[in-house]
Amino acid sequence: MTRQSLSQEEMIREAARLLLSSKYVMALTGAGISVESGIPPFRGPGGLWTKYGEPPMNGYEIFLRDPKKAWEERLSPKGPTKEIWSALSTADPNPGHHAFAELEQMGILRSMITQNVDNLHKRAGSRNLIEIHGNFSLIRCIECNSRYPAAEVPLKTLPPQCPQCEGILKADTVSFGEPIPRDALDAFFQESEQCDCFIVAGTSATVYPAASFPLAVRERGGTLIEVNLYESEMTPLCTLSLRGGSAEIMPKLVAAVKELRQ
Ligand SMILES: [Zn+2]
Repeated sequence: MTRQSLSQEEMIREAARLLLSSKYVMALTGAGISVESGIPPFRGPGGLWTKYGEPPMNGYEIFLRDPKKAWEERLSPKGPTKEIWSALSTADPNPGHHAFAELEQMGILRSMITQNVDNLHKRAGSRNLIEIHGNFSLIRCIECNSRYPAAEVPLKTLPPQCPQCEGILKADTVSFGEPIPRDALDAFFQESEQCDCFIVAGTSATVYPAASFPLAVRERGGTLIEVNLYESEMTPLCTLSLRGGSAEIMPKLVAAVKELRQ
């Protein structure tokens, strides 16, 4: 019997066995898990860009050209920015976020990477977390990468300056055309070298640097577990594909791990 012909319950038990027999489990999450908390996606039906049109692909260059103007726009958001801000500030972690935090507390999940900026993994209790695209509730210095809670940054003069190095402060969320902050990228590669089992949830993992990762784990002989509503380009690489949302599947996976451990 091939794995794909197993029932969902059997596949979840099999995934739990893989987690328990691995040395260094990591996870990657993307927009799918945020959608389950009511945050609209960018693309596809109901997507922000489907509704408002694609944003300029050189957002970082626009910021650097006139940081003051970019800050003024941030402080009086319109259109898609306003919509996403209101969704981000009212969303709460869902059972999928809580399940990842629990897996970490159980000592199963060693670290996770998220492409989401919504702060929901942190709020659910995940600690060893790499937010590769930044966090909407933080402000970052573009020179030294120091991060500050947005509410604590004085905005009398725009753009605000870094108290440590006087560099320009910008939203921590990574803009189009902006390099991924060095510290996040280094942490990502350092962690991923040790990984022998990788859970990919709510993303098709097609955006760099996350895209290179599933393949690297497979080449090292590791296992890949996918938790996604639909098949993706990554599906053929996966050891196990669990079809469903993270809010549905992840708590079941945690329960299966607990049961096997008894
Ligand atoms: Zn600085």
